[in-house]
Order: sequence, then C-alpha cells, then structure tokens
Amino acid sequence: MPTAITDVFDAELIRRYDTRAPRYTSYPTADHFHPGFGPGDYQRVLCTRADAPLSLYVHIPFCPSPCFYCGCHREITRQPGPIQDYLEALEREIALKAALLEQSGPVVQVHFGGGSPSFLASDQLARVMDRLRAHFDFAPKVEMGIEADPRNLDAAGVMLLGQMGFNRLSVGVQDFDPVVQAAINRRQSYAETEVVVRAARAAGFDSVSLDLIYGLPHQHPERFETTLDQVLTLQPDRVALYSYAHLPERFKAQRQIPASALPDPSLKIRLLEQAVERLTEADYVHIGMDHFAQPNDPLANALTQGTLHRNFQGYSTHGGCDLIGLGVSAISQIGHCYAQNTKDLQDYQTSLNHGALPVRRGITLTREDGLRQEVIQALMCQGRVCYRNIRARHGVEFAAYFAEELLRLETAATDGLVRFTPQALEVTPRGRYLLRAIALPFDAYLKRNGESLRHSRLI
Ligand code: SF4
Repeated sequence: MPTAITDVFDAELIRRYDTRAPRYTSYPTADHFHPGFGPGDYQRVLCTRADAPLSLYVHIPFCPSPCFYCGCHREITRQPGPIQDYLEALEREIALKAALLEQSGPVVQVHFGGGSPSFLASDQLARVMDRLRAHFDFAPKVEMGIEADPRNLDAAGVMLLGQMGFNRLSVGVQDFDPVVQAAINRRQSYAETEVVVRAARAAGFDSVSLDLIYGLPHQHPERFETTLDQVLTLQPDRVALYSYAHLPERFKAQRQIPASALPDPSLKIRLLEQAVERLTEADYVHIGMDHFAQPNDPLANALTQGTLHRNFQGYSTHGGCDLIGLGVSAISQIGHCYAQNTKDLQDYQTSLNHGALPVRRGITLTREDGLRQEVIQALMCQGRVCYRNIRARHGVEFAAYFAEELLRLETAATDGLVRFTPQALEVTPRGRYLLRAIALPFDAYLKRNGESLRHSRLI
C-alpha cells in the first residue's frame, strides 16, 4: 500500500477533475425522489420488508446559533417550547413506524444527527433513547453514534451519553483558527474540544471522529497547520475532511460569507494537500473521498476486507441494513425504496399530531437503478467493480452494457485514476480522491437531464 503523498495525491489531476458531482450517499440521489411516493407507499414497504437488521437515524434539527458555512436542515432557536413540541412529534413517529413493522429488528446501528443533537438536554436525549428501546428490538451490541458540538457539551454530558449507550462520538471542529472561526460564526476553543474528546475516551467510547473543513474564509496554510497539529494531538480514530461548498443561493447563512474571503482554487487544493500529507504521515488510512481512519479502525478493516458500505451518514461497516429515518427531513431506505420526511417543521408536527406519516417524497428503484446503484456503491466503497459479480447478480456483461461509460473513463485511465483489467474496473489510490468524478458516468439521471450544477464541486 503506497504511503508517500505523491503516490496518492496529485494536485494537478485533482484541479483538472474538479467538477460538480453528487456525493452518492444514495443512488438515485435525493433530488430525484418525487412526491408520487407518499405515506401509503412507505407504509406498504415497511409492512412487507424482508427480515434485514435495522439502522435508525434520528434527526434533531435545533442549533442555538447559525454557523455561516452550514448547509444542513436545521432550525435556530434557544426556546424550549419548539424543542419540546418537536420531541413529542418525534415520539409519535417512533411509535407509528415501529407499529407498522412486521419484523421489528434487530436494531444494530443508531445515529443522531442534525442540527446539533448535543444541544438537547440529557434528559431529553435519554427520553428519545428510551422510546426507541421501548418500540424497537435492539441487538446486544449496537453501534450508537451522535454528532457532538463541544460548545454545548461538557465532560459530564459525555458521561451521560455513554450511560445512554452511545459509543461513537462525531465532533465538529472545522478549524481552530480564531480568524476563521470569527468569519464562520463558530467560536470553539481547542480546550473545550479536548474536554469532550478526553471525556469520551474516559467513558469508554469505541470511537471519536473529528470533522474538519477546508476552503473556509480566511483559511491560511500556516494557521491551518496549527489546527492540524491540534487535531492530531487529540488522536481521533477517524477524521472527516470536508470541502466547503459555497452555495449562497441555496443556503441563506452562507450569504454572510463574502466570496472575496474564500481561498482561491489553488490555495484550496493546497490546504487539502497539506491535510492529506499530515494525515498520511500520521498513518491514517484514506478510506475514500473525505474520510480517514486509523489503521486498526473498523472502517479501515472493512476497506481491506471489501465490506465497506456507504449510507446517508457517509462510510459505514453496516451493510444490508434497512434504514429508518426519524425526524424532519430524515430519509429512510427500505429494500429497494427511499422515502424522505417533510423538510418543513410545522408540516412534520401537524402530520404526526394527526397520526399520519410525514413522508412527502421518495422513489422505488427500477432494476436499472439497482444495477447502477451497485456499480456506484462498489466504486465508492471497494474501489472495484467485479464483472463476475455484476453478471451473477444482474445478468449483464459489464463491458458491453457499460461500453459508453467505460469510454468516458478512458482519460481517467490514461491519467492513472482507474485501470481496466479483464476481471474488473479498479480505482487506483490516486483515484480515491476523485471517486465522485469516477462514479459520475454511471449516473443515468445526470446523463438524461444533463444537470449537475446543483451539486457541490469535488474540491
Ligand atoms: S454547522 Fe452544525 S452546529 Fe452549525 S448551524 Fe449547522 S447544523 Fe448547527
């Protein structure tokens, strides 16, 4: 396995392939879910699903203040009333969906995202967990993750999370540089972050992950180096290194960030290269796209064993699960269907107050969707599409069926990002930074509509 930075990272190639592309946490991507798939369809799918293990995603949309770079579905409030109303609706949704399940478990994975789930009081989180356990059948060992904001969590709070069963903490850092923090309206000291990370270790959490963002306003290599030093001092099990996507026409908060404060494209790639170099030197394994993990982390093992999966939370070791999304905007994936709840908080609560599922759109995959989903998943996770597997599972000869797509990848092959062997299409270590671009030709929806402008750039 190559470890020299020049073996795995080519800034010139990354600049050349920097295009707009989906992140492929699903295929088809969520912008192709349609309102023709409604609560009745979802109910039918839940009632008739196969006996797969369950993964639960719980969306807590509240944050006390807006980070200007944010592109999440979140509501800014410090008022207890709206939060209480939401939690009551969430409890109704948990009960409603669990009651529709013919096969209720076992639950093997739970993830709380947002928003800022750690902004909830401990007793509120404990109550949600209690409802989940009351309505679903939990496996003896469940991977339980929560996104944590050190600005609203202390050591005692982390201990309580551990007592509730959480064993994975995902901590937002972005950048410790005070100049950057002022520009993104997120002032978070190293000291308060360290308290949370150390408390998670003391509480016996299995994994601590830190999130960084490159391309933020006023980011500078010299000061970013200090952030990287601090991150590595904390020895996270995983690091997510996201590219900041400036889409102020879509995300209102981003209008607070002047384009003139953003690093230009070459500086942005330099920041990425700097982070990749430091993580590689520190022996982190590049899992794919923006994710890194320590060599003994389950994600790194899954990468080696070819069992890595990708879902709405990013890379995962849990494949073959049905995902039940709970909360406003949450997405479910059951069998061959995706379904998304309303993104409107009021609509969400009104539906559940009337005992109705808040599902507003979704999609049932065609056979063709299923085939392309498997190809894209294999590229994003295993970095390899095995022709024999595709033949066995879908009855098609890969090279003939995808002749046009392979033609579109010829330049990538010449550039050393992919290689064609008689048995498989393989992504090289360099190509792992450009997985979205490599997967793009297999996306029939983009081909049909010629639309990619609404997606973020790779870098
Ligand atoms: S980045 Fe996270 S904490 Fe900040 S406003 Fe968005 S959801 Fe809330």
